[in-house]
Amino acid sequence: MTHQTTCCYCGVGCGVVVKQATGGQLSVEGDTQHPSNRGMLCSKGMNLNYTVMDQSDRLLYPQMRFSRDRPMQRVSWDAALERTAAVFKTFIQKYGPDSVAFYVSGQCLTEEYYLVSKLIKGFIGSNNIDTNSRLCMSSAVVGYKLSLGEDAVPVCYDDIEEADLFYVQGANPAWCHPIIWRRIEAHKAANPQVRIICVDPRRTDTARSADLHLPIRPGTDIVLNHAIARELIDGGMIDASFVADHTDGFTALRDVVRLRTVDEAADICGIDADAIRQTAAWISQSKGFLSLWTMGMNQSVVGVNKNLSLINLHLLTGRIGTPGNGPFSLTGQPNAMGGREVGGLANALPAHRDVTNAAHRAEMEAFWNSPVPIAPKPGLTATELVDALNNDTLKAIWIINTNPAVSMPDVNSTEKALKNARFVVVQDISARADTVAFADVVLPAAGWLEKEGTMTNAERRITYLPKVLDVPGEALPDVEIIWRFAQKMGFGDAFTYPNAEAVYAEYARSTANTNVDVTGVTYALLKEKRSIQWPYSLADTESLGTSRLFTDHTFYTPNKRAQLHAVPDENASEPTDADFPLVLTTGRVRDQWHTMTKTGRVAKLNQHAPLPRLQLHPDDARARAIRDGQLVTITGRRGQVRVTAELSEDIRPGLCFLPMHWGRALAGNPDSSTLGRANNLTNALIDPRSKEPDFKFTAVEVLPYQKP
Ligand code: SF4
Repeated sequence: MTHQTTCCYCGVGCGVVVKQATGGQLSVEGDTQHPSNRGMLCSKGMNLNYTVMDQSDRLLYPQMRFSRDRPMQRVSWDAALERTAAVFKTFIQKYGPDSVAFYVSGQCLTEEYYLVSKLIKGFIGSNNIDTNSRLCMSSAVVGYKLSLGEDAVPVCYDDIEEADLFYVQGANPAWCHPIIWRRIEAHKAANPQVRIICVDPRRTDTARSADLHLPIRPGTDIVLNHAIARELIDGGMIDASFVADHTDGFTALRDVVRLRTVDEAADICGIDADAIRQTAAWISQSKGFLSLWTMGMNQSVVGVNKNLSLINLHLLTGRIGTPGNGPFSLTGQPNAMGGREVGGLANALPAHRDVTNAAHRAEMEAFWNSPVPIAPKPGLTATELVDALNNDTLKAIWIINTNPAVSMPDVNSTEKALKNARFVVVQDISARADTVAFADVVLPAAGWLEKEGTMTNAERRITYLPKVLDVPGEALPDVEIIWRFAQKMGFGDAFTYPNAEAVYAEYARSTANTNVDVTGVTYALLKEKRSIQWPYSLADTESLGTSRLFTDHTFYTPNKRAQLHAVPDENASEPTDADFPLVLTTGRVRDQWHTMTKTGRVAKLNQHAPLPRLQLHPDDARARAIRDGQLVTITGRRGQVRVTAELSEDIRPGLCFLPMHWGRALAGNPDSSTLGRANNLTNALIDPRSKEPDFKFTAVEVLPYQKP
């Protein structure tokens, strides 16, 4: 038997063909028919079958404990969900609907996201649902909304083969979006005029392949982009008629970027001024200017401003809405986009509606026939949920398919919050997730291939994922867990669905007359066409959707014009000082995914980087008498980490890098939080608009490890 599905790891959304041998053995290969990956898979994708076949850490039965000092007991689904419903009802009655919350994941399917959002916003009366996608792409969401009028990625992967200049800022697609990178590499190999510029304080594999590497100081991306904008403006390299006809805000932007000369900006960024001039010239000379960015831009206390400063470059040059041109925020998770579409953020409602918009609330209240009004203010975002648990304003949290006990910034504070919480529900596939240890109720969920549903990848491409395997033990698909719980809460009529397809059909109906229109998308159509790019209305029956947005240069803003933003260029990260003179940045290694609850099962993937290592410049090491391979202690204002140092000239002096994947259990000692858990060190500063944390800038000191 063969089945076409989609990889469950990153937002590239590669098509996968799963083959099931007679004995049940699984193998996977890239789907040559899938337009995103054209048959290619990266190391994680090629090992998906091993991830599925190792069931040793699976959660198999609902479990519950009646007090924190008592062990977990196996219970029935009814017992687990009835107790959870009773606790939620008690808190809601006593403290109000905002006393409970859901924290979900970019790995949830669209139907799951939609159902949880409907439950808490339309039926419980709180907007307290947020997602781990808040930690990776919410700055891009706000950037797109402010500049283009909506959270709408304007480009598609086919723009890669149309572009001749790639401006990669704060991203390492060679490791983190490998199939996109392979398409870029193949395109460049066939077309020698294609250029790549990489902006990254580290010489990553992406930077090594670039024609121009700009190793800027951390936190200076806006200074750089403003300097490029100034060079474009003063050099007469902008598209003046596009700016006049289709944008607002030019004068203010021009005045802001002229506050610094290109030489001054280069000095602040720590790079050569000629490199800035070269970048502007290449943008001007290019026919297709595609910018790609991820966490280096988004995970910042000024992440929204960073996004806006980059999108400005496209609007100044009119490089948007035409083949090969546009600002392309690459999503990290497989369905971060689907979550954005259905309103799986604390500030959003389905189809990019906004909870602060009275008309949008009224539309969804009527659509859902909500028994309570939708709350007019945004709910708590990821780090705000932690704060609210710590100050006891939030009593209960239900965590679905994510592992905040490893992934949150200042994770010691998250552990404290989960201990403080009056009630914690963890719904997951794996006991390997550190967060499970904090649960009062554990709900076993179906994993990849064990349930059906849809996901949307980074280019707005919706694909259908079939159920291929039976669930182990008593695990249930996440949609079923949510609708069973909603029924226990007394909302049965609105949560009675025969299957996930009916949930998708309801969501699709809610998108009528919006820019995210998927009223024409059905499971049958997705099975027939393999994938569809939204928008795809009922009238679109012949096409495969919309590959590129804004082709007529009409934007989603009220006046249909894109907005240039004259953002300040200061960084607001925590300061370094004599005690903490180095900047720590965190990120991924090539073969691991998030907190390793899936990739950590696969021996082949663990070979690439068996343990976390701190990348440190030899000058910084020499000043501290640190040798390559030596055990070091990294100390910050919130905690410590003990790892091995790896000296490398591939990182700027003054900066060090630690992977973010390892938690307590995976560091080899569940009793110790100091072995490699990067988020002991990171801080909870957030961008004021996107609420995305500042993972890329933490003040630390690194010293040789001393035995206590
Ligand atoms: Fe999966 Fe992403 Fe690799 Fe594609 S690039 S195979 S989606 S992890």
